[in-house]
Amino acid sequence: CGIVGYIGKRDVAPLLLEGLQRLEYRGYDSAGVVVTSPKASGLKMVKAKGRVRDLEARVPKRFAGTTGIAHTRWATHGAPSDENAHPHLDAEGKVAVVHNGIIDNASDLRAKLTAEGVEFLSETDTEVLTHLIARSDADSLEEKVRQSLKLIEGTYGVAVLHADFPDRIVVARNGSPVVLGIGEKEMFVASDVAALVSHTRQIVTLDDGEMATIKADDFRTYTTSGTRTTAEPTTVEWEA
Ligand code: GLU
Repeated sequence: CGIVGYIGKRDVAPLLLEGLQRLEYRGYDSAGVVVTSPKASGLKMVKAKGRVRDLEARVPKRFAGTTGIAHTRWATHGAPSDENAHPHLDAEGKVAVVHNGIIDNASDLRAKLTAEGVEFLSETDTEVLTHLIARSDADSLEEKVRQSLKLIEGTYGVAVLHADFPDRIVVARNGSPVVLGIGEKEMFVASDVAALVSHTRQIVTLDDGEMATIKADDFRTYTTSGTRTTAEPTTVEWEA
């Protein structure tokens, strides 16, 4: 339902929770957040069925990070629960995925992955994408995501964080909106500009079939087949 992400220098959890709150009007049944930082040795995640303030209540005092992604879920596959809330992590806790939309061939992919020994932690369609990315042998995060998306049929706006690539967030869009927010030495991503306008008005809207990599001081967009695309930020008008 709702996605928000940030990479920069600021303490990320409060920023992401605020972003989620701005997406509350869209409706949702659960929420979650995962964070890391360039020096961190892994991902930290909290998720909860219920309101964003229920999630906030569970975020530990020490939850430092400068990079993260967060989600409000509107369940399509699997009941609203803590486990089914996004982000979805692989068994090693290295790959985190938040997803809007529906993966139509999720049950086929789940059966295949289960036969290969993968243990699923949720009932969602989204979790197949986490495992596909975790199991990809591609060198770059972009290529891991690209290969995995090729196996997927359905709609998505996705954001991916990987513990081995803490300097970036990779996002993709197919039928579910994704916008980038361009800041000063910080970058944002969201499913809706409403989550970003308190921080930046410089927006790049992805097209279907487009992906992006955001880093603290840089972004680039490209197609799902890897060709670079041009993306000039536009300034959005917004009544505060
Ligand atoms: N299909 C996914 C799920 O059920 C994502 C739903 C959404 O867009 O929030 O978890």
